Amino acid sequence: MALKLAVFSAKSYDRTYLDAVLKDQHPSLCTITYHPFSLSSETAPLAHGSNAVCAFVNDTLDAAVLRTLHETGVGAILLRCAEFNNVDLRVAEELGFFVANVPSYSPEAVAEFTVALLQTLNRNIHRAYNRVREGNFNLEGFLGVTLHGKTFGIIGTGRIGLALARIVRGFGCKLIASDPKPGLSDEEFRNEYGGEFVDLPTLLQQADIVSLHCPLTDLTRHIISTENLNRMKKGALLVNTSRGALVDTKAVIKALKSGQLGGLALDVYEEEGAYFYNDHSQEIIGDDALMRLVTFPNALVCGHQAFFTKEALTEIAATTLANLQDWAEERPCKNSLVREGYLVIPKGKEPVRI
Ligand code: NAD
Repeated sequence: MALKLAVFSAKSYDRTYLDAVLKDQHPSLCTITYHPFSLSSETAPLAHGSNAVCAFVNDTLDAAVLRTLHETGVGAILLRCAEFNNVDLRVAEELGFFVANVPSYSPEAVAEFTVALLQTLNRNIHRAYNRVREGNFNLEGFLGVTLHGKTFGIIGTGRIGLALARIVRGFGCKLIASDPKPGLSDEEFRNEYGGEFVDLPTLLQQADIVSLHCPLTDLTRHIISTENLNRMKKGALLVNTSRGALVDTKAVIKALKSGQLGGLALDVYEEEGAYFYNDHSQEIIGDDALMRLVTFPNALVCGHQAFFTKEALTEIAATTLANLQDWAEERPCKNSLVREGYLVIPKGKEPVRI
């Protein structure tokens, strides 16, 4: 009998890609109910009657939600994202949930967006777009820098960091990177990417552009702190397409105000869960830090869209349903985070002790 899957935070594009992959690759696996609202302690009871739930990056899967899902008979949690820091894995393990994610989907999509965001900020393309539409062809305020010859610092050389390294090399930048557990040797990084591994303080001191590509862990939370912002070159640009809480928002606002930070391009924001992926244009937005950020002429904020390409959505849907199929057939799932009574933490993430 077909399983029942409840998809939370569902948008039209989730429906399009999940329905298409279901029809093509798993026609009798499940029936899907799409909920447009996010998963939280208020909405978790609506999973009643489902065997599995599918959640996204800003859904809540804390102990209370997991216990409610368990009581309603849900057995599997399918994350249609790479992250899992929104899941209490210890409680999931304790309750015997199957939890799987999509560890990689088009790292190139995120790397390409990182460069698009950086260059939009650097060359003021977003402001030029508006100015030209009003018949104003003045260039005052649009002065940027040439990337060629600049020092580009990548923090985290996993799949996305390395995809970015390939692009940055093409720009003719000097590439430096920091990663406590890189997946390649100094020699491989030098020969294949033209880059050099350095420690974090050195990277911050030397880079004209700093781009974040490490996961969010207890060790990386607020890695961009006042102390580290002060280590950076005055006027350097900072890009974050990784996770919002890598950056201490109050500290970057101060650094932008003082001119220590030359520009900030964000696709993610530490308190994004309250706003991102939904239209709040008719409301008074209560997050003063977010609203302050969007007023800087040298800051640019996007709503967590770096992954958002047709190719990535196809991969996300295919992996999510393949994970469900593995669970349904009780076969080993390579993307399972909780497996046979112990937690499985993918390479590069901090271990979670249970
Ligand atoms: P990955 O696991 O392949 O690589 C992460 C790398 O970071 C690893 O090499 C790891 O050793 C390194 N790292 C860990 N701690 C570090 C530290 N303190 N300093 C420097 N490096 C450190 O991950 P990935 O697939 O490249 O993804 C990177 C991040 O991008 C993810 O964690 C996710 O948060 C984010 N992401 C964002 C979007 C988006 O749409 N904006 C989409 C996908 C992923």
